[in-house]
Amino acid sequence: MTAAENSTLTLHGIGVSPGRVGGPVARMAPGIEEPAVANLPAGADVDAEAERIAAAALKVKKGLELSAAEAKDEGRTLLETTAQMAADPTLTSSAQALVRDRGITPERAVWEAADSLATMLESLGGYMAERSRDVRDVRDRIVAVLTDAPMPGIPTRPEPFILVAADLAPADTALLDPDKVIGFVTSEGGPTSHTAILARALGIPAIVGTGEEVAKQLIEGEIVLLDGTKGEIFLDPSEEQLRKARELASVVREFHGDGATADGIEVQLLANVGDAEDARKAAAAGAMGIGLFRTEFCFLDQPEEPSVEDQYNSYRPVFEAFPGKKVVVRTLDAGADKPLPFLTDTSEANPALGVRAYRTARRSPEVLEHQLEALAKAAADTDAKVWVMAPMISTPAEAKAFTEKARSYGLDFAGMMIEVPSAAAMADHMFKYADFASVGTNDLTQYVMAADRMLGSLADLNTPWQPAVLRLLKIACDGAAASEKKSPVGVCGEAAADPALAVVLVGLGVASLSMTSRALADVDAVLKSVTREDCKRLADIALACAEAEEARAAVRAELPILEELGL
Ligand code: PEP
Ligand code: MG
Repeated sequence: MTAAENSTLTLHGIGVSPGRVGGPVARMAPGIEEPAVANLPAGADVDAEAERIAAAALKVKKGLELSAAEAKDEGRTLLETTAQMAADPTLTSSAQALVRDRGITPERAVWEAADSLATMLESLGGYMAERSRDVRDVRDRIVAVLTDAPMPGIPTRPEPFILVAADLAPADTALLDPDKVIGFVTSEGGPTSHTAILARALGIPAIVGTGEEVAKQLIEGEIVLLDGTKGEIFLDPSEEQLRKARELASVVREFHGDGATADGIEVQLLANVGDAEDARKAAAAGAMGIGLFRTEFCFLDQPEEPSVEDQYNSYRPVFEAFPGKKVVVRTLDAGADKPLPFLTDTSEANPALGVRAYRTARRSPEVLEHQLEALAKAAADTDAKVWVMAPMISTPAEAKAFTEKARSYGLDFAGMMIEVPSAAAMADHMFKYADFASVGTNDLTQYVMAADRMLGSLADLNTPWQPAVLRLLKIACDGAAASEKKSPVGVCGEAAADPALAVVLVGLGVASLSMTSRALADVDAVLKSVTREDCKRLADIALACAEAEEARAAVRAELPILEELGL
């Protein structure tokens, strides 16, 4: 490509979801700030001011209903619930009373009335407490109308766009429609934050952690080209660049459930799922099984522990999507970035190092018992080969206790995640008890490098290409090889979805790779281009490097297929 064909300015961030896409920028409006306590000007028509609140609420309700009609699934339900809240007269009438009684501005009145309502709902607990989030959402929208501020939430444009935001809250991500949002850029967030994981699951090219200075240069309505593989944003891209991006995007690769290297060594390519719908999509995408069922995703919003029956109803359809196939279930990984109100203590100073994941069984052993009971029942009623593992196992004693407990419920194939460096270092001891292990490279990297996985500013540390992480993985694979177990180590962190890193992982001795279904075909295509010997050679190259970027560049240089496939 000649210089004239290229855009003039390239910005950088962390590429977290591959693919090249061009389109106009749509910026997410910043959050609504609390209006100052202020009185209406002398002589203001108090009744007319109070009426403005009802009119603004009606406008918000109509807008939400329109968006709900266009949204899908969870997004639609969310918007419909919020629209109902906007239509509820409790909030508007108490805000109007504040304007009439105290003469304060309508926006301040809405803010105060919403706060009292939300606090009251929170004190009721349970389902009602959850509704306080909707009250605050409606509050922000009404205040936006009253003060002429941009509406918070995912913006709308007639054509598909590239979303630019500080970060995306879980409620925003439920509203992301991949037909409208064709790419996104966030100034915050790290490569293994849940925003990044979601982008990969939706197959939306994405860049995170650009920092504010870069994000500021992305102007509403201007066309940019985003390369989610390299983490590059081209301002003012040429027609030629945009045409090539469209060409690459139109190539659809398929996976046929036959993961293997070029010389026919099987590599199980499995899917990461959070619910039955994901599982069905994974089966349609050719996944050879499920390598990580994040069970906590089924219950993130629930204030109380779900009953055994509710859990059974969540697990059974996931198992049913893979009759006769392997389904690896992880017990609740509550805590840190995924708090479950009934299991975690949000007041801990260092939640990532606290009583999270398997450790919660120290405080609430019955929650683990109930989950194992539900899993065993669902496994018995379906044909899937259910394997069960616990997150954040740190010592051989924990591996022993968990696997014995799981087997006591009839869950015979029991293992563990390797996410804590101690578990990798002690792998030979762990495999005395665990039938298998799945390496969670997202957490393993955060703990090896002592770098919060949510922080974009530490992204250079927080990559599984770090040779220190790869060396620990090798220790884990070598520890497993010393055991009698057959192919016991898999990887289910985001590293497995990076086709170049997948080659290195196989070279280190990893037998299965679990990823978002969207990545299966790309990883498969690259693995089929190399032999097992090539994988070992590339793993040695990576292990010998001093720095993450050096390892990544050295391995990618040996895999020209990546450039051909646009990966
Ligand atoms: C991991 O830590 O790599 C992992 C797969 O678990 P999660 O991302 O859900 O913490
Ligand atoms: Mg983890």
